[in-house]
Amino acid sequence: MLKPIIIVGYGPVGAILSLLLARNQIPVIVIEAATKYPEEPRAVGLFGPSHSVLEDAGIYEEEKRQGMPSAGLSFRKRAVDDGNGGQRMGDCIASAKFAPEVNGETPPGGHFILIPQAKLVRIIAEEMKHADLQQFATVQMGLKYLSSEETEDGIKVIAEDTEGNTHVFEGSYLVGADGSRSDVRRKLGLKLHGTSWPERLISADVLRTTNNVPEIPSCLVVDPELWAAITPLERIYPGQPGLWRYSMAVSDESVPDQELEKAEFVISMLKKHIDGPYNQEFKVIRSKPYKMHQLLCSSMRKGRTFLAGDAAHVNNPIGGLGLNTGILDADALAQTLVQVLKQGRPESLYDRYSYERRRVFQLYVDPISKSNKQRLHVSSPDIVANEDWFLASIMSDDPEEKFSPYKWMANWKTDMAAFKM
Ligand SMILES: Cc1cc2nc3c(=O)[nH]c(=O)nc-3n(C[C@H](O)[C@H](O)[C@H](O)COP(=O)(O)OP(=O)(O)OC[C@H]3O[C@@H](n4cnc5c(N)ncnc54)[C@H](O)[C@@H]3O)c2cc1C
Repeated sequence: MLKPIIIVGYGPVGAILSLLLARNQIPVIVIEAATKYPEEPRAVGLFGPSHSVLEDAGIYEEEKRQGMPSAGLSFRKRAVDDGNGGQRMGDCIASAKFAPEVNGETPPGGHFILIPQAKLVRIIAEEMKHADLQQFATVQMGLKYLSSEETEDGIKVIAEDTEGNTHVFEGSYLVGADGSRSDVRRKLGLKLHGTSWPERLISADVLRTTNNVPEIPSCLVVDPELWAAITPLERIYPGQPGLWRYSMAVSDESVPDQELEKAEFVISMLKKHIDGPYNQEFKVIRSKPYKMHQLLCSSMRKGRTFLAGDAAHVNNPIGGLGLNTGILDADALAQTLVQVLKQGRPESLYDRYSYERRRVFQLYVDPISKSNKQRLHVSSPDIVANEDWFLASIMSDDPEEKFSPYKWMANWKTDMAAFKM
């Protein structure tokens, strides 16, 4: 009988991988260091081919039900004084709806679904409670991966619980889905290579009430200093409290890192971006500073161990490509394991997984993610409005020219069956 596949990390990538494998009746054990999944202000936008992976996993409809379809995207200048005791949103320089309807329905991938990543993990955890899946997947929270070593026919993993007790697991393969600081990657001796950005980002979830809800409330602020990404996290009704995400650049490199943790600093940043009276009240529900990087691991496979998601590659959050790419890694790795373990395809497919997913990162994700960020701050908003291809594309009336997340990202999904080995 096949020993379980051990997955380290029950973040969104580890969670979706475990669900895909359990659906294919491959046994998995997931170990997660946190005792409950953290509500960090991180991924919120899912789009493109990751929707079809969620469909395969059987959770797309639930994700749609619990998430919110994005009305579209706008690009704006920074907020300005309104001369009346407050500030107004900056002028809109481009905007577009991203929800083409076909017979009254938006096909999967054709739109953006806004859903915080913690909510996505909870949907997966709920789905895993079904008896037909539960028999294949076990999730153990509060267990930190420490080390692993290959045995004659598998892999032995050592983990530690919150009281310092050691736990040993025997598996067939190991997957490091343990995020950008991956212990699994470190133990393999593999390194991330790339660049880091000088600016830092504060991501804050804010409860506020406004009467001014634009038709397209998600916006990217184009400004050499105060660039930002702003989006509602739930349906916003004028005059009622609603939850918003503000991801704001801190361009001043002289501000110490510890300052970014302080509530007063976060509030002072928010006051530069939130429209309405200067003396309005709002509540910061959570906030966290982030450093930004463009990094890729030299391999996503070593022996019986694979890497997926942020453990293998990291990019800046503007444009929301990190988790969408990680979901497509999980999909490709699940296909790989199913095809080798259940369909008799050769083990050389394992290196192909690493090659293909690294290729997708280098060819598409990394350059697009870099330009998503640079578009916001390397030149003036007027130049961006007139000269940037992406703004022209979202504004185009020509269906061939118009930006479509599904069409644009179709090649980011890997079909492992297509490779002749
Ligand atoms: C501000 C911000 C906004 C973002 N917005 C988007 C967006 O809109 N769309 C998008 O696609 N991406 C977005 N991203 C990126 C996205 O958050 C990441 O790509 C995503 O979280 C990666 O998921 P993961 O499961 O690979 O890693 P993680 O989410 O980091 O999960 C890793 C898990 O492994 C666990 N773990 C770590 N070490 C161990 C250990 N030793 N033992 C056991 N468990 C361990 C951790 O506790 C964690 O639960 C954003 C990121 C940021 C910072």
